[in-house]
Amino acid sequence: MGLTSRAILAAVLALATAVAPAMAPAQSAYPNKPITLVVPAAAGGPTDTVARLIGESMTKTLGQTVIVDNTGGAGGTIGMARVARSAPDGYTIAVWHIAQATAPALYDGLKYDVVADFDSIGRITDVPMTLVSKTALPSKNVTEFLAWIKAEKAKATYGHAGIGSASHLCALMFLKELGVQVEGVGYRGTGPAMNDLLAGQFDFMCDQTTNTTGHIKDGKIRGYAVTTKFKVSSVPDLPTLDSGAMPGFEVSAWHAMWAPKGLPKDVSDKLVAALQAALKDPKVVERFASLGTEPVPADQATPEALRSHLVAEVKRWDPVLKAAGAKGN
Ligand code: ASP
Repeated sequence: MGLTSRAILAAVLALATAVAPAMAPAQSAYPNKPITLVVPAAAGGPTDTVARLIGESMTKTLGQTVIVDNTGGAGGTIGMARVARSAPDGYTIAVWHIAQATAPALYDGLKYDVVADFDSIGRITDVPMTLVSKTALPSKNVTEFLAWIKAEKAKATYGHAGIGSASHLCALMFLKELGVQVEGVGYRGTGPAMNDLLAGQFDFMCDQTTNTTGHIKDGKIRGYAVTTKFKVSSVPDLPTLDSGAMPGFEVSAWHAMWAPKGLPKDVSDKLVAALQAALKDPKVVERFASLGTEPVPADQATPEALRSHLVAEVKRWDPVLKAAGAKGN
């Protein structure tokens, strides 16, 4: 290489070095790699269904793949502990539900603070629940079903997704109302629990319409009632518990998105915008409707609304769970 060529090369290298820092922000603009969306319950269950629909839509908005990672167990506390410990860079986020609010009352020595260790992104949906059983039970409607449980309580079994999960809370409240104790069987999520209900391994479950609608319609499980105060269009034949056997009964499973505490503002803004876009995505709206739910109103899909909802829900569930003597560990 001659002197001139070397001089030109040196000049080019110097220029490249000078320009590189100026280009760095553009190259590293969030997101520039796939995002892990932790679902603290097993694949195939209701939270997984909600998370995958939202993740698919956010992938379109963010231009990076949102990959669902199922980390179930211990009523969701294993997955949420993982998220709390992750770097607050927007590459690890979570979709979880009402169990975020019940965990403090249930799990002694919880390794994270459900409010302080997370940044809220927004609420997603509030899913009605259904009382369902295996088809082998003799009961054909809710009155017969309640009578069957009362008669068979010592032998009856119900499935749930771990202590403090939505399915567990619903069953706890329902059985308390009925005044009977029935043995529960815990799973890593109601995806696997549903497989066992379909196979007749236990008798009944209270689970979200996002997991039960299809099987009720196909006649593979029997639906008895919904747990909201309103009837649900995806399962129009089911009465509300409130209007019949259990006036005032109301429980549903709200879902939301969180990130580890300390997200940079620009990253948080992008996630919030992508979540809000997902809640307006016609594909999400349509699929939610077919599963008996809908996105929360826009004013509830904000970080502030989620934060205050969570704080209120922690307060609401703490005395209920303590009075019920429920413990996760
Ligand atoms: N939603 C379920 C429950 O809490 C958990 C899951 O998504 O599998 O019952």
